[in-house]
Amino acid sequence: MPDRRRHPAVYAVSAVVVLSAGLLAVSCYQCRSMPRPTPPAGIPIVRVLVAEVRAGEAVSVSTTGPYEIHAAGSVVARSMASLGEGKLSRRSGQWRLHAADYPADELAVVAVGQSCVRVGSRAYRGKVVFTTAANGKILAVNHLDMESYLTGVLARELYRSWHIRAYQAQAIAARTYAFYEMGTFGRTHRYDLRADQSSQVYGGFLAETDKARRAVETTGGIVLATGPEGHEKVFKAYYSSCCGGMTNSAYVLSGPPVTSGPLAGGQKCEDCKASSRYRWPAVTVSKDIVYRALSRQYREVADLGGLKTIEVVEEAGASTRPVWINVVGTNGRKVRIRADDLRISLLRDGQTRGLYSMNCRIRDTGDAIVFDGGRGFGHGVGLCQWGAQGKALRGCSVQEILQAYYPGAKLFRAY
Ligand SMILES: [Zn+2]
Repeated sequence: MPDRRRHPAVYAVSAVVVLSAGLLAVSCYQCRSMPRPTPPAGIPIVRVLVAEVRAGEAVSVSTTGPYEIHAAGSVVARSMASLGEGKLSRRSGQWRLHAADYPADELAVVAVGQSCVRVGSRAYRGKVVFTTAANGKILAVNHLDMESYLTGVLARELYRSWHIRAYQAQAIAARTYAFYEMGTFGRTHRYDLRADQSSQVYGGFLAETDKARRAVETTGGIVLATGPEGHEKVFKAYYSSCCGGMTNSAYVLSGPPVTSGPLAGGQKCEDCKASSRYRWPAVTVSKDIVYRALSRQYREVADLGGLKTIEVVEEAGASTRPVWINVVGTNGRKVRIRADDLRISLLRDGQTRGLYSMNCRIRDTGDAIVFDGGRGFGHGVGLCQWGAQGKALRGCSVQEILQAYYPGAKLFRAY
């Protein structure tokens, strides 16, 4: 199971989404047993970054059925047949696809009826809007209804064999997370979420399964919220694969210490023991590799001349889990970063295997940094996916699972 990471730019965002009026309180929530044939009106549209292509390169686009192409606010092409695979490129302020030029900032390929838009090997419901970033990259952003999006998320986040109640709890957590991102990060960006582990893993239409669909349908529109009665707001409902025995505070990921509320951590969890990453063996990484990985992510680290050692500056309150570390250079200077960012840098570098979380001790053995006593997989904040599965197998309800990982949060119907 992938771990849940936040986009760094979201760290500083403090705004929260105020739920619309007319929401039903938790007592009104009941899982519906009948699948919903078509999504009801009022489901929000979510925007997911599904592909990025370097400036000057082209992206493969096609549709599986009827489609429209929209540019500069107009329908510029329409067909009841499918769009054959073509290379979409951008030159001199124009989009080019199948030898046609479209002078517009954005180009949208819209799936009509049951059709899907293919970008590369993936297929997406709704439409895909192509736009360019400031650095010239082509961004492909899938706009689709929240419930379809969640179906494509669940199928990638959980194992097929897992219990329906684990799926339902995950559906509510993922919907809450997406809602929060729409109201914060999405307000100032052309997309709300990414399709990878930096937000929620999303596989599009082809990833959907019947179980994922059923879990989304039976929890349709339900989100978690927290705050004083009558003023509850959705929050960033983090989740990760395996907490390793106790959930972490959201402080390990961002912001100031979190001492209360659903993301304060400290919740004991025995239900994730079935995960092979509940405990994991020591990982040894040479200082050269650590230094190279960090230098690629942090210019300040590249100026340190080499890695002398890693110092743990601050640990999480209830555990010995490092939160902040100093990267100490051979020139004596130090750069302070979050411990989780060390792990992400090593993962991006691609040389380090088996470092599943920062729920571990960090030791210096001279030439290498050793991560030992490792527990869990991912950041361990919020819902523990393996724990949710364990609780579902023990007979816990969806509400009980969510209460265990987001204590004090209430369920609301957002639409
Ligand atoms: Zn757990």
